[in-house]
Amino acid sequence: MRKLVLRQEAIADVEAFLKLCPFGALESTPSGVAITAGCKMCGLCVKKSKHGEAVFVEEDARSVDKSLWSGICVYADHEEGEIHPVTFELLGKARELAAKAGGKVYALLIGCKDKAPELLHYGADEVHVYGDERLNDFRIEPYAAVFEDFVRDVKPAVIFVGATPLGRQLAPRAAAKFRTGLTADCTSLDIDEASNLIQIRPAFGGNIMAQISTPNHRPQMATVRYKVMNAPARQENPSGSVIERSVDDALLKSGIETLHVAKKEKAKTIEAAEIIVACGRGLKSKDDVALAKRLADALGGELACTRPLVENGWVEARRQIGLSGRTVRPKLIITLGVSGSVQFVAGMKGSEKIFAINKDENASIFKTAHYGIVGDLYEIVPMLEKKILDNKISAGKGAKA
Ligand SMILES: Cc1cc2nc3c(=O)[nH]c(=O)nc-3n(C[C@H](O)[C@H](O)[C@H](O)COP(=O)(O)OP(=O)(O)OC[C@H]3O[C@@H](n4cnc5c(N)ncnc54)[C@H](O)[C@@H]3O)c2cc1C
Ligand code: SF4
Repeated sequence: MRKLVLRQEAIADVEAFLKLCPFGALESTPSGVAITAGCKMCGLCVKKSKHGEAVFVEEDARSVDKSLWSGICVYADHEEGEIHPVTFELLGKARELAAKAGGKVYALLIGCKDKAPELLHYGADEVHVYGDERLNDFRIEPYAAVFEDFVRDVKPAVIFVGATPLGRQLAPRAAAKFRTGLTADCTSLDIDEASNLIQIRPAFGGNIMAQISTPNHRPQMATVRYKVMNAPARQENPSGSVIERSVDDALLKSGIETLHVAKKEKAKTIEAAEIIVACGRGLKSKDDVALAKRLADALGGELACTRPLVENGWVEARRQIGLSGRTVRPKLIITLGVSGSVQFVAGMKGSEKIFAINKDENASIFKTAHYGIVGDLYEIVPMLEKKILDNKISAGKGAKA
């Protein structure tokens, strides 16, 4: 693996040397010029330095002493003072893999310290909390620096991060700091006898399930989307401990200052919906999306769709289910005119009950569905909607009587 090294003795003009990096990733420090986390390894400084001030060197990947690294850590994501539920799902997976590979299950909590004990209820042996108030608001540099501080000290062999907007920023930074691998959006995780994490995810447009491992580096890192794994039941009387960690002021250095936090109005997400009506290319026009929406409304559910409908501009992107969309696990999903491509099914196969309507009896959605109707959605959906509304009215009359 390549590593960027600065030969301090060759840097005669520091100011001129700093200007070689177009990303501002070189900075002057009392101990010389340093490479910051902003380095993209583009190699321009190496190319432009005339006297070998910056060079790439090949690191011996086998130099990592794996025996020093053990246990599985889950980064505990939080939003508006609450632990993000993907954290509990990942703790469940960490517990399962730790039973196989041995070692402790750690949770790393940065900010939001009041919630640390809650993580013990989902299987953490140790919750390491950096509770300094200055970490309550997310800023990437201090969070990445604190993350690094924890990993250098505790040395977990494996780290899981939720693929939330925050996790998707933090995990790559942390992986870069350790020059280790990171597999994004894993759909399954396993561990072998040598404690190598098997990171499984669809690749090549969902046509294969790739098994990725990081045998020569530690830690091994993976992100997983919300709702891909099952959260364990909350234990009433957990064991385990909360370890408060102090924060060195140097770790809080940031070029970002939080002036004001404005809350964005939360739109209903399809991930949180218990009932979903998902429409596909079986719909003939944009106006016909209203047919699916009415059925979703009658059931008190959310509208979702396949990718072609987003590409056509018929439905918003945040309602797309699948590999390049969202992962959902509702109690009930009804698909209308959806063929059941691998890319679509990857995002909804964990649903409790799947009900498909498709006019082609050989459509592959019927292999995934628990119930199905072979027929024209334009005939079936209005009948279904009427039946649901009639039932609601008679249930209402029954309640009044
Ligand atoms: C890298 C990559 C990522 C992708 N990611 C995603 C993703 O995240 N999500 C996604 O959905 N797709 C994704 N796709 C696209 C995917 O491969 C499929 O093309 C897509 O899912 C097909 O959508 P569909 O089922 O709506 O359309 P089609 O495959 O065209 O199916 C339409 C279905 O409607 C049925 N039908 C037609 N008329 C009627 C009617 N009147 N009544 C009942 N049934 C009817 C047909 O029999 C057919 O089965 C991705 C593709 C690639 C290459
Ligand atoms: S490798 Fe590229 S990004 Fe990194 S310090 Fe050099 S010029 Fe900047």
